Amino acid sequence: MSGACGSCTLCCTLMKVTMEPPKPARQSCQYCTNGGCSIYEARPDACVGFKCLWLASQEIPGHGLSSLMRPDRSGVVMDLNEAGTIIAHCRLPGSWKREPMLAWLLRYAARTNVILDTPLGSELLKPNAQTDPLERVGIDPISNLRLYVRRSDLAKFQDGAVS
Ligand code: SF4
Ligand code: SF4
Repeated sequence: MSGACGSCTLCCTLMKVTMEPPKPARQSCQYCTNGGCSIYEARPDACVGFKCLWLASQEIPGHGLSSLMRPDRSGVVMDLNEAGTIIAHCRLPGSWKREPMLAWLLRYAARTNVILDTPLGSELLKPNAQTDPLERVGIDPISNLRLYVRRSDLAKFQDGAVS
């Protein structure tokens, strides 16, 4: 979070933060207040380095995403991982379905992987707005990125249909 975040603090709830003690995903940080971070000057490196895509867009003249997409208004914190996958951390299961967020996510779903992280689990968003449920299968030891497989593919492996 930064001064440009205004009254938004959604990443301080939805995101997992490496700090002591660790802050789990979907749990409000103990330092989060109505006025923002109560330890702002001494906040953990993970927080200093984090910018959601909405915030990052505000720093590109002419390319700032709509104020309606600010995470506290849309209910979606958008993040980009090192593999170029967009992760939409959604406050509610259907937060991603509201415009103008939906149109933006679908546009990117046609170009790259878009993962919806919701209270009900993770799903891959397809350009036609359908979704494929995902199963988290681990962490890549080199990139430290989360690894997922489509649940439908997992079932094929378990049935021995794929070898
Ligand atoms: S979700 Fe984005 S806009 Fe909101 S506080 Fe975090 S970095 Fe700022
Ligand atoms: S330490 Fe501050 S910036 Fe980091 S998650 Fe907690 S409230 Fe947010």
